[in-house]
Amino acid sequence: MEKFTLGQKRPLIIAGPCSAETREQTMETALKLARSGKVDVIRAGIWKPRTKPGTFEGIGEVGLEWLSEVKRQTGIPIAVEVANHTHVQTALKYGVDILWIGARTTVSPFAVQEIAEALHDNKDVTVLVKNPMTPDINLWEGAVKRLIAEGVPEKNIGLIHRGFSYFGHSTYRNPPMWHMIFDMRSRFPEMMMICDPSHICGCRPLLLGIAQQAADLCFDGIMIESHIDPDKAWSDASQQVTPEDCISLLDNIMWRAKSAEDPEFNSELNICRQKIDQIDSELFDLLSQRMRTADKIGQIKKASNVAILQSNRWNEITRRMISMTRGMGLSEEFVNTVLEAIHMESINHQNEIMNK
Ligand code: PEP
Ligand code: MN
Repeated sequence: MEKFTLGQKRPLIIAGPCSAETREQTMETALKLARSGKVDVIRAGIWKPRTKPGTFEGIGEVGLEWLSEVKRQTGIPIAVEVANHTHVQTALKYGVDILWIGARTTVSPFAVQEIAEALHDNKDVTVLVKNPMTPDINLWEGAVKRLIAEGVPEKNIGLIHRGFSYFGHSTYRNPPMWHMIFDMRSRFPEMMMICDPSHICGCRPLLLGIAQQAADLCFDGIMIESHIDPDKAWSDASQQVTPEDCISLLDNIMWRAKSAEDPEFNSELNICRQKIDQIDSELFDLLSQRMRTADKIGQIKKASNVAILQSNRWNEITRRMISMTRGMGLSEEFVNTVLEAIHMESINHQNEIMNK
């Protein structure tokens, strides 16, 4: 079988279950996806880094037997997540083509270093590095550099954007924070960037929207979770889709041409414009979250019959923001104008609640 090489196919489509659970579930899902001709790589989690113990933590080595059977039957490359030295050794023993480092592992320099050392001078295997859970680009960059320092060829390394954990309210399980991706891309301009809409969205209805946005932003591929019976999945049930739905979703993504075919698209100006559009949409998403919080304050004030405008508190906010934004390259006048506009909108919201 020909060795899998990153960059041979764009867009690169990776699909498969969150976890390999049973032989039947793994084989059936993988064969349906592979035989559609729309999927380039089959993924499955074998060792699962779960938030809490006591939940399903992966089927282990036997899952690699099922995956290598998929590879034998279809000729399609296989991908699994690795988080330590033993995982790497075991996966390589079963002929896994692509190893990926998960978001919970990228946050740990010790774990990444251990993986990098297990891959020392490995010229064959492809390694995809997911962004860390936290929006920390240096940590992501550091993980890639650890691999390179251990002699993993840069051309064998790719990146996966799976969204960032966020403590505030969001429609997404892990909000995409696209501007982070632009930053990472500028650090590794040649590296393939793959989007994982499943872990960004956490639910099915949002998947296509995120996948399309990734295609519009010139991503190089998609990694998506699919399961023959998603509702009964042992992990990430709410975000997995049936192989049929997965294939139809993939059919609906409109991929955009990159560089050579469309030099205008890749021009520096265009990249900056896309970045600005993304930041603007995130700014307004944050503003809307702020207003929802203001609404809650309005309800509390109404319940305890307190006046809306509390000038001491407002003066304090203004002072704090002006001192905080010093050195950010924003004029004091601009900061004041923005704050005033936000304050007005907030008061209007609260007024509405008071007078309801
Ligand atoms: C996964 O791909 O199943 C997974 C655990 O993803 P992440 O590391 O992005 O949470
Ligand atoms: Mn998952």
